[in-house]
Amino acid sequence: MVSIVTIGCHPDDVESGCFGTLALYRKKKANVKILLLTGGENGGNKEVRLRASEAACAVIGATFVYAGFKDGQVTDDVETVSWIEKEIQKAAADIVFAPSPLDRHQDHRKGGKAAISATRNTANVLLYETPTTTEFKPQMYVDIKETLDQKIKALSMHKTQEEGALASEAVRCLAKYRAYQIRQFGKEIEAFQVIKWILNIDPDK
Ligand SMILES: [Zn+2]
Repeated sequence: MVSIVTIGCHPDDVESGCFGTLALYRKKKANVKILLLTGGENGGNKEVRLRASEAACAVIGATFVYAGFKDGQVTDDVETVSWIEKEIQKAAADIVFAPSPLDRHQDHRKGGKAAISATRNTANVLLYETPTTTEFKPQMYVDIKETLDQKIKALSMHKTQEEGALASEAVRCLAKYRAYQIRQFGKEIEAFQVIKWILNIDPDK
């Protein structure tokens, strides 16, 4: 069975970046583990935010692991890299999702870099986008029409009602826009940048 590890710097990063794709993998019974580097304490009460992350993971039955690094002070040094690498090894991950390092938020920049270093032995590594990603050149597309509602439900665990409504609208629009960009009308898409991807050639498909 495929094993997936996803790295998020703050509560809701993974939910906005790649949750629809994770939900699709869970439908296929893949193991999905979500690593959260910080509790997002600069943006609210840490305990509340951690409980929201757990509730979001429960929407798809993903495993949740909290690292306990400080919000706003994520590093790409050996401590962060080793922690991520150990979790990837424990899960025997086939695919890792990480934040793009080309981002306005310093935690996303450092967390993304740390993830790329920590995946030196991982076969497949994809970067997801967040609302603060500054340069994103999508190369891989996943139709998440089937799981978009689960993604929005997971996101809604994190926000006040007003923010939640706005986030939901933005997420729906982005999914449609990514489909429109590649002329896949009617689909709703999450886009990724590829660090590495092994193409399996199956002549029966
Ligand atoms: Zn974030």
